[in-house]
Amino acid sequence: MKLFSYFTKDRHVRLGLELDGKNYNFTQLWEFYKDIKGLHQAPQLMFAQLMVEMGFFNMSDINEVVNTVSELRKIEDICVPDPIEYDVPISRPQKILCIGRNYVKHAQETGHDPTEEPIFFAKMPSAMIPHEGSIIIPQNAGRVDHEIELGVVISQQGRFIPEDRAYEYVAGYTVVNDITAREMQKADLANQHPWLRSKNFDTFCPIGPFLVPHGAVPDPQNLNLSLKVNGEVRQQSNTSKMIFKIPELISYISRFMTLYPGDIIATGTPEGISPLKPGDVVEGEVEHIGKLMNYVTT
Ligand code: MG
Repeated sequence: MKLFSYFTKDRHVRLGLELDGKNYNFTQLWEFYKDIKGLHQAPQLMFAQLMVEMGFFNMSDINEVVNTVSELRKIEDICVPDPIEYDVPISRPQKILCIGRNYVKHAQETGHDPTEEPIFFAKMPSAMIPHEGSIIIPQNAGRVDHEIELGVVISQQGRFIPEDRAYEYVAGYTVVNDITAREMQKADLANQHPWLRSKNFDTFCPIGPFLVPHGAVPDPQNLNLSLKVNGEVRQQSNTSKMIFKIPELISYISRFMTLYPGDIIATGTPEGISPLKPGDVVEGEVEHIGKLMNYVTT
């Protein structure tokens, strides 16, 4: 079960549901469900973020909609036509927080020891691009790297979240490629400047295409993740190798700031980062969550 946002032919954004290999127009399924149940005041569901904010982004509620509608009419015709043009899965996160050096071998390859507490920084929502969008290498930016990461999407508002309740605050998962202007980042670190700019050029946050409900993922802390450039494997690891696990990250961050529905936490990248050049095709994949493909251009 995977949710996604897509563009219709007339450029409207709608919500899609991939279920048992079929792609349904979930925005329309929800309209039928509202009619059947007399929920005339309920909003239209154009975005997954709205579902998350409504507390409605979970397997049982989604199944309830599909099953209720399919009892009364054929749902095969409520589908998303191919080819699908995807939008980003979460359109307006209040914040995108990224964890640095959360895999030992990646910390080592960048010349650092693992830290005692998580390091986190921010990516701006303006950097997001969808599946099949183009990563633009800026002029004079120096080396620009890929970083495949598991993205965690927050379900509800929370502060001082205890680790043992952290998954109650997870709506689902997506794939993030934390694109980084590496030389600029190194220079900023050496000068004791924040390294925000190196992470936040436009197009430096490919994300998606899917948002997968927490309940549809067997074990988020045991997922293979990999990244290929032009078909060649550059990164390959498993989320079990994270130094700080998902509940620790959520709990830790919530000591400093309130998390809101739709906020995204990119959980860090494993070893194997490498430079991208115009013309490359980048495919990041996280088991059960999906494959994120992007072009590289100038
Ligand atoms: Mg990263």
